[in-house]
Amino acid sequence: MKNNFRKNTLSEIIKNEINEDATIIQEVEFPSNNNQYKIYVKREDLLHPKISGNKWRKLKYNLLEADKQNVNTLLTFGGAYSNHIHATAYAGKIFGFNTIGIIRGEEHLPINPTLSDAQKCGMKIHYVNRSDYRKKRDESFINSLRNKFGEFYLVPEGGTNNLAVKGCTEIVKDININFDYILTACGTGGTISGVIAELDGNKNVIGVPVLKGAGFLNNEITEYVKAYSGKTYSNWNLALDYHHGGYAKVTKELVLFIKEFEKLNNIPLDPIYTGKLMFALNDMIKLKHFSKGSTIIVLHTGGLQGIKGMENRINKLLS
Ligand SMILES: *Cc1c(COP(=O)(O)O)cnc(C)c1O
Repeated sequence: MKNNFRKNTLSEIIKNEINEDATIIQEVEFPSNNNQYKIYVKREDLLHPKISGNKWRKLKYNLLEADKQNVNTLLTFGGAYSNHIHATAYAGKIFGFNTIGIIRGEEHLPINPTLSDAQKCGMKIHYVNRSDYRKKRDESFINSLRNKFGEFYLVPEGGTNNLAVKGCTEIVKDININFDYILTACGTGGTISGVIAELDGNKNVIGVPVLKGAGFLNNEITEYVKAYSGKTYSNWNLALDYHHGGYAKVTKELVLFIKEFEKLNNIPLDPIYTGKLMFALNDMIKLKHFSKGSTIIVLHTGGLQGIKGMENRINKLLS
C-alpha cells in the first residue's frame, strides 16, 4: 500500500500541477449594474483544466491525508453528472490514486459524458439504487463497501468534510483587494463554510443554494464552520429563491441570462451552479440589495464539465 511509486512527494506534484496563482480577480459587468457597484469574479475555474474550482480546494487536504495514511484508493459518492465525481477521477489519474465512484441510481446507456470521462481516468463506477445511496453515511453500508472493494480513503458526497472546509479557506486567503460582499453558489455548503471561517466575521458572505428547499443548509453550514474554527458567525446568509426549480433544473430565463453574461464578460458559466449564482447576483443588484458604492466579489467555482450533459435540454429550451 505504500505510495513509493511516486517519484516526488504528493505536495511537490500538487505544486507542479495546480496553479493557485491562476485564480485571478477579474472585473466584470452585469446587465443590471449600470456602474452602481464594482464587481469582480474570482476565477477558481482557472485552477486546473480538469480539476476545476472548489472541487480541487475540497480534495487537496483529503488527498494529502490519504497519502499520509498510505491509502492508495479513494472512494466517493455522487450523482451521474457530479462535478465532484469528475474531479475525483481526474485527481486520481493525475496524483496516482485508484478511484471508485458510487453513483446514485441505475446505469443508463450510453454512458453520459461525466461518467465516461471518469471511467477513462480509471475510476471504477459502481451504481447503487436510491434507497441504498441514502445510506451513504451509515457505518454498516460503508463496511459492506470495504468488503467489496478493500481498503479505501472515504471522501464524502460532494467532497465536503472538515479537510475540505480547510481547503476552501484558501479561496479567500489571496484576495488582495478590499471588498464588502462575497457570493458563492452552494450545494453541500462546504465551500461557503471555508469562506466564512477564513473571513472570521469580516465582510458579508452570501450563499446561493442551487437546491430547492435548502433551508437545512443554514444548520449544516453553521456546523461545518464550528467544527473547523470552533466559532459561530452571523455575517452570512443564504438566498434560497434562486434554484430555478431545483438541482440541475434549468429555465429559459436562466439560459438566456447565461448567454448574456458570457457575451458581456467572455467568461463561461455552467447552468447548475455558477449560472444560478450570477443570475441571483444580477437580480440582487436590480433589487438594490447592497449598500451604495459597494465592492462585490463573486466566486466562479468552476463546474464547466457539467455543461456537456445538459446541452440537449438547453437547446430544447431555446428552440
Ligand atoms: C460542487 C459545486 C459547488 C457547491 O459547492 P459546495 O461546497 O458543495 O457547496 C459550487 N459550484 C460548483 C461549480 C460546484 O461544482
